[in-house]
Amino acid sequence: MKTCYTCKGKILKKNISVEVSGIMIQDIPVEVCERCGETYFTTSAATFIQNVAKFVESRKRELMPIPA
Ligand SMILES: [Zn+2]
Repeated sequence: MKTCYTCKGKILKKNISVEVSGIMIQDIPVEVCERCGETYFTTSAATFIQNVAKFVESRKRELMPIPA
């Protein structure tokens, strides 16, 4: 069984919502420590969040008005 790196507590799998650049992404699978609440992202979840963040930032730049 997996344990927390910080407190050696029990790790539980759950799905959470994560806000990335003002956008909510639902149902991200993570592992959360039952004792201290430390959240561990799986590699694929972390990569997915990074990709969404990059996409959102690039779109934002396109939509941003040109500074005077
Ligand atoms: Zn912990």
